[in-house]
Parts: sequence; C-alpha cells; structure tokens
Amino acid sequence: MERRYLIRTFGCQMNEHDSERISGLLTAGGMTPTEDLDEAEVVVFNTCAIRENADNRLYGNLGHLKHLKAAHPDMRIVVAGCLAQKDQGAIQLRAPWVDVVVGTHALPQLLELLHRAEEDGPQMDVREYTEVFPSALPAARHDAFRAWVSIAPGCDNRCTFCIVPLVRGPQRSRSVGDVLAEVQMLARRGVVEVTLLGQNVNTFGRDLSIPESSRRPLFAELLRRVDEVEGIRRIRFTSPHPHDFTPDVIEAMAECDNVCEHIHFPMQSGSDRVLRAMQRSYRRDRYLGWLDRIREGVPGVGVSTDIIVGFPGETEKDFVDTLDVVERAGFDSAYTFQYSPRPGTRAASFEEQVPKEVVQERFERLVALQERISLERAREQVGRTFEVLVEGGDRKGRSAKSRTRTNRLVHLPGPFEPGTFTDAKITDAAPHHLSGEPLAPVSTAAAV
Ligand code: SAM
Ligand code: SF4
Repeated sequence: MERRYLIRTFGCQMNEHDSERISGLLTAGGMTPTEDLDEAEVVVFNTCAIRENADNRLYGNLGHLKHLKAAHPDMRIVVAGCLAQKDQGAIQLRAPWVDVVVGTHALPQLLELLHRAEEDGPQMDVREYTEVFPSALPAARHDAFRAWVSIAPGCDNRCTFCIVPLVRGPQRSRSVGDVLAEVQMLARRGVVEVTLLGQNVNTFGRDLSIPESSRRPLFAELLRRVDEVEGIRRIRFTSPHPHDFTPDVIEAMAECDNVCEHIHFPMQSGSDRVLRAMQRSYRRDRYLGWLDRIREGVPGVGVSTDIIVGFPGETEKDFVDTLDVVERAGFDSAYTFQYSPRPGTRAASFEEQVPKEVVQERFERLVALQERISLERAREQVGRTFEVLVEGGDRKGRSAKSRTRTNRLVHLPGPFEPGTFTDAKITDAAPHHLSGEPLAPVSTAAAV
C-alpha cells in the first residue's frame, strides 16, 4: 500500500508555498496525501518562527505526536521550515522522536533524509545556503486556479525585530526567464491568478543583471512581463517595502490590465522614533505620501498593512502616533501583531521591553480602531458591482467565498465551482467580508 503523508503548515504565504513543494516531493516519492493523522505515516510540520507562540505550538504538537508514534512506530515525523532552521539540533534534543529536521535551504534533500532516517535513525540538514531554487522542485499546488510564485526568497534587510533574514538567508532573485517560464507553465495548466512572493519585492533583481546589458531587471518590469502571459487574469504580489518603493510600480499597476488593484504595504509603526529603532528606513510622512500616490495612480485600490504593537521602548505617545496614522491611512484591513522578542534579533536585547499587559491593552485599542475603519471601508462598497473569483465554498454548497481584484472577501449564496469568475453586486458589509448577489457567471478557469 502507498504511504500517506500529512502536512501541517504554520505562518506566511512563503511557508504555504514551501508546503506545496514538500507535497510535490513526497508525491514524487510515491506517497499520497491524507488529512487523517491516524493513517499518516509521514507527518510534516512546516513551521514559522516569527513569534514565540509559534514555537510553543510546535512543541505542543510534537508532544501530542509522541504518544501516537509510540502506538505507530512506523510513523516518521519531519520538522521543516523556519523553526527547523532556527532551533536546529535543539528540536531533536527536546523531542527525540522527531525523525527529520530539514531547514529552509535543504528542502531538495527531504526524500533522501527520510530514506536515511529509515536506515540510520534521526537526521538533520540545516545547511545555510540554497543550492537549488525551490522553484526547481515539483509542487503539488493547493488550488487548480491560483498559485504562488516565489520571485526572491530571503531578505537583505535587518529590521531589528525580525528573524526572517536569520532563517531564510540573503535575498536571491530568480531570473526573469525562470519566473516567466513558471507562470507560463501555470497558465497552460489553467491557473488564472498568480501571487508573486518575496520579502521585499521592490528589491527583486538587485542581485541579477540583464544579459548583454549593465542594467538590472526591475520589479515593475517583471510585473509588465507577467502581465503579458496569456491566460493569467489576476496578478498579485507581496510584500513591497515602503523604503524601496518606486513610482514605476504604481505605473505598472495602473497600466497592466491583469495586475490587481490591491497592495499590501507593511507600515509596522506610525511613530518615527519607533520606525528608526526598528531600522525601517522610512518615516510616517513618507509612508503616507506613498499611500496618496498609490491611491491617485490606482483608483479604488485596496490597501492592507502589518502593524506591530509594543516594540521595545514604545511609549503611549508613540502608540498614539500609530493610531493617528492608522486613522489617516484608512486601511481596508491590517494584520496586527504583538511584538515578540526573537532570539538573535537586535530588538530582543533592547532594554525597555514593554510590559505584557500594556501591549495587550494597546493591541485591543488598535484592533478596535481598525475594525471600525474596516467596516466603514466595507460599507462604501455596498451597491457596487465587482468581478469576483470564486475560491471555495462551504461543504454543503450553500455558499461560496470569492474575492474582488481589490482583495475583498465576498460571500455569495449558492454553489459555485472554485475558479469561476462572476460579477457580483454587493448587498451587505462586515469588517472582514462583504455579501453579494451574483450576476451572470462570466467564465470558469480551465480544470487542471
Ligand atoms: N517582509 C515583510 C515586510 O518587510 O513587511 C514582513 C514579513 S514578516 C513574515 C510578516 C510580519 O510579521 C511583519 O510585517 C511584522 O509585522 C510581523 N513580525 C515580524 N517579526 C515580528 C516580531 N518579532 N514580533 C511581532 N511581529 C513580527
Ligand atoms: Fe523581516 Fe524586514 Fe526583511 Fe521584512 S524586510 S523580512 S520585516 S527583515
């Protein structure tokens, strides 16, 4: 009988995408996926290290598996991703029943490591350098109609709160030809939406050169090239960095029919003092200035952001500055984080860590403000009609979840095949979703 595997993914889109690669590798190795832990012979935790509670969750999950493995000695447990890269040998010291620890740069070795674990016991590969781009690995994509495309793994910045550069290494851009080849392949398989992934998409290409030229490729040029790929109807990207943002990206968003009118534009803080301490080298006025230009250039654009509350040394005045910028920016949505000290980052050793209860109280005020603003923004959409792409539905087929180009979630009544485009008239609004009535279906993405 074929061996079955189960993957649990934690964290961001990069990890979701890595899990598709892990799934592709295991499938290529002759295994089949399952959602049932009891029948899984290979269990993979693809982990996140951004905040401390991610650590706690992993070790909680591993504790649970210890008993299951005692009952099923053939079970193999794999810890992959950012925590594997961060904790390395400590994982198997703390949980000796883990068979394989595979870091962010060692994914291509996964099958080999599993094989060696059968023969020789626990294995670990946490090499520090990516020899093979993840894109060269097979991917078992989660959806048939949309896909993530990694354009530049790693990060060259050193935001003082962030562990990403430590666990993902320096930025390495893929060649434009490589990215285009993947997007073309996806389009041929019926994918209609791609999301280009990088920690700082604006610096895409900084480490490349254009053949027979002294120039480097620019992110805006990449957007324009992907826009030309036949069959791709929606192009998204995440994340641009306010420090490296350039007007040519706004022009490309405005001029490329398939580039969606949405931008995730991480602000982190509205206080210049805190931004400086975070080593985020833009200031609040510059951030707001970019937002004005983006909204002017791309009318109706949806804007989301990331904000950290309780960075070391954040005073009540700094926090009020953040609330002020949030009010002025009028984000459609925000991912709000409580600051979590990460080992090895500069901010973890800063004095003046903010007490937990103060962080919690500020966090609640920020969330309440953003909820109000999100609802106001959502209500502005009622009565309007948008093209939406159906992403999934409830099990009984009574309703479907779809998304506008501006990245708003729209609930529709009735069953719809994922991958269907339809126009929908918005009838109601809540902070995190809209409700709509479908007009005539427009088209369905070809089945893969
Ligand atoms: N590269 C992206 C950027 O520069 O905006 C950020 C990627 S990170 C995976 C996603 C978000 O996690 C960050 O924007 C930040 O808000 C949050 N984050 C990162 N480190 C954190 C920490 N130590 N504590 C709390 N939130 C954190
Ligand atoms: Fe982390 Fe800053 Fe790099 Fe984003 S840009 S991944 S926050 S170091």
